[in-house]
Amino acid sequence: MRAAVTAFVALGANLGDPQAGVTGAMECLAAIDGVRLIRRSALYRTAPIDSSGPDYINAVVELETILTASDLLAELQRIEQDAGRTRPYRNAPRSLDLDLLLFGDARIDSATLTVPHPRMLERAFVLVPLAEIAPHRVSSSQLAAVGGQPITRI
Ligand code: ATP
Ligand code: CA
Ligand code: CA
Repeated sequence: MRAAVTAFVALGANLGDPQAGVTGAMECLAAIDGVRLIRRSALYRTAPIDSSGPDYINAVVELETILTASDLLAELQRIEQDAGRTRPYRNAPRSLDLDLLLFGDARIDSATLTVPHPRMLERAFVLVPLAEIAPHRVSSSQLAAVGGQPITRI
């Protein structure tokens, strides 16, 4: 049996009923074979950055998994597809986005997967919910660096 790894996944949505989309996606993550949902952040509301459309609902969850990182990514993409995700253009509004932020201490740089997520440190909508559930994974200077980005806990 492969050892379990702690992983963090960011959830985001700004189409349809984004709150229901993010909450439902947490249930889908918990239901993946080989995944346990350990902790979920509150839901947060943010205005689109480099994107458009309605406000986003964002959250982060902690998972424990015996899957490989690439198998976990495939499961995240399946859940996005099931939620009706389309990619008409970069940063388009979306029914559901699931990004793998951290996978244990792994550093991965393949054609389809980069971990830690390369843009996570630029984003309050990732760092604030991550810090809520895993304060040891986010430093106060990292949080301060995104302090100018408005984010509301709901
Ligand atoms: P961003 O990556 O800036 O948050 P995005 O989430 O809108 O943008 P997507 O269209 O959802 O980008 O994903 C594009 C590709 O990113 C995916 O096909 C996937 O292979 C790749 N990818 C690389 N690293 C990761 C990761 N850590 N988590 C999720 N997808 C990743
Ligand atoms: Ca994303
Ligand atoms: Ca994504």
